[in-house]
Amino acid sequence: MVSVATLGSHCALQLLKGAKDEGLETLLICEKKRENLYKRFKFIDKIILVDSFLEVLEQKCESILQKNNSILIPHGTLIAQMSSEQIESIKTPIFGNKNILRWESDRNLKQKLMNEANLPTPKSIASPNAINSLVIAKRHGAAGGKGYFLASSEDEYNKKRDQLIKEGMINGDNDLYLQEYTSGVLAYLQFFYSPLKKELEFFGVDKRHESNIEGLARIPAENQLKMEKFTSFNVIANSPLVLRESLLDDVYTMGENFIKASAKHVPPGMNGPFCIEGVYDENARFSAFEFSARIVAGTNIFMNGSPYTTLIFDEPMSMGRRIAREIKQADTENQLKNVTT
Ligand code: AMP
Repeated sequence: MVSVATLGSHCALQLLKGAKDEGLETLLICEKKRENLYKRFKFIDKIILVDSFLEVLEQKCESILQKNNSILIPHGTLIAQMSSEQIESIKTPIFGNKNILRWESDRNLKQKLMNEANLPTPKSIASPNAINSLVIAKRHGAAGGKGYFLASSEDEYNKKRDQLIKEGMINGDNDLYLQEYTSGVLAYLQFFYSPLKKELEFFGVDKRHESNIEGLARIPAENQLKMEKFTSFNVIANSPLVLRESLLDDVYTMGENFIKASAKHVPPGMNGPFCIEGVYDENARFSAFEFSARIVAGTNIFMNGSPYTTLIFDEPMSMGRRIAREIKQADTENQLKNVTT
């Protein structure tokens, strides 16, 4: 019997509760400082205590996972704390496609895959001296929006970049990616692609509450102008959205195009959970600024199912549970190789 393992952070609770609901054994790789939190939850069968998540790469941790026949579910913390090389070197089978995580972390590869998938994206700006409208400067990797800032000119950009260097958050221009700022309704579209059924399931939509940008919007312009505070887009929480039904057809098309492009460029393709993140403009046209090639924390809203999973399943279905169900089916049918890398 396989077990499900993940790092103690991000959406670990959802993942392991979902695995337990499907009758699988659950393991948590947990930093000592978080042990008190996670031992409250009875659906976690085993806690492997570590000083740092990098210990996943070490023999001791790997052999515990191997002994427990574990499948590791990657999430944002794995991407944020390990390099692509480190992730690719993990010997424990990883649910989905670990090779596509490199395409998530590298902005240029990311843009390439979104172009291949025909996703409309905001224009990227080649260098600070080409800034002539409002742009957002973003850090590479899964920084969670921390330290992202807006600028309308090269001077403004330089000032804010220097501040981030002073704070030790970046080393220089190479650590920032510039993109045209798109305004509208932000929506984070959550999908699951089943390599066993060869079917795309649309799981839900969320919006993110980001600090301090959300708070700044509550301050009148005249007060904002007197403030020295810079923006940041640090995700603090998520809340649910439902889309106008007339937008759903396009949502499925975007998901399917993304799957086709991934299968072509990053074999074995976009298996399992993923998210396309972007903005609907005033004409209800979507522009994707990002994708996540693994489960996103916004799925935590729907631990009991979402309006969209209710349409597909006759029982509460979280993304964590859906992953476990795919693993269980693959295990029964001797197809684990088709759902892991
Ligand atoms: P990302 O790391 O690309 O997911 O961006 C983090 C946050 O920055 C998003 O959740 C949005 O709030 C904001 N953001 C990123 N790119 C854009 C964009 N092109 N236009 C407007 N907002 C953006």
